[in-house]
Amino acid sequence: MKDVPGTPPEEQLLVGLARLGQALRISSYRNAGPHRLSPLQADIVTLLAGDPRPRRLNELTRALASSPPTISDAVKTLAAKELVERQRDDSDARAVALTLTETGRAEAERLVRMPEEFTEAMRTLSPDDLAAMLRGTSSMIRSLQDRKAIPVSRMCLTCTYFRPDAHPGTDRPHHCDFVDNPFDDAELRLDCPDHLSP
Ligand code: SF4
Repeated sequence: MKDVPGTPPEEQLLVGLARLGQALRISSYRNAGPHRLSPLQADIVTLLAGDPRPRRLNELTRALASSPPTISDAVKTLAAKELVERQRDDSDARAVALTLTETGRAEAERLVRMPEEFTEAMRTLSPDDLAAMLRGTSSMIRSLQDRKAIPVSRMCLTCTYFRPDAHPGTDRPHHCDFVDNPFDDAELRLDCPDHLSP
């Protein structure tokens, strides 16, 4: 009997991650909602909802790894749909700052609800699997950020407040100095509004 030819697990993992990315994109198109948002418009609304501060266009461009004209067009469309407001930035009169309107905030609440198919898929994971996947995903994102392959995101692993393994041998080994609380791998955050870059 011949052995099944081996495939490196790294390649299989990339295939799996690509399939998950595909599922997320399909879900995003299906979830366009009453304002018929494109995936990029939905990303902008979600990003603005994750931070109480007004955000500049160049911050959105960086965070979403896009180009200024693409972001500018998407923001114009969102303003026409009355989901975002453009105003002068208090700290720089030449810059434009963006916030969500009340309608935009309501739309953001709808967008952050996890689609049913993902809720069901998450239920198939044990708490240990979930924590391991979050830890592995965070490490890969950090490595890709260090190599400038993707923009820097506001995650625990790149945060000044993060103290990994500050409580070794306990259920919640890490510590967040911002809230002064211990936490475990399952609570690692990939986009935190309180993140502080070193
Ligand atoms: S402030 Fe946010 S990103 Fe920073 S360690 Fe705490 S939870 Fe993580």
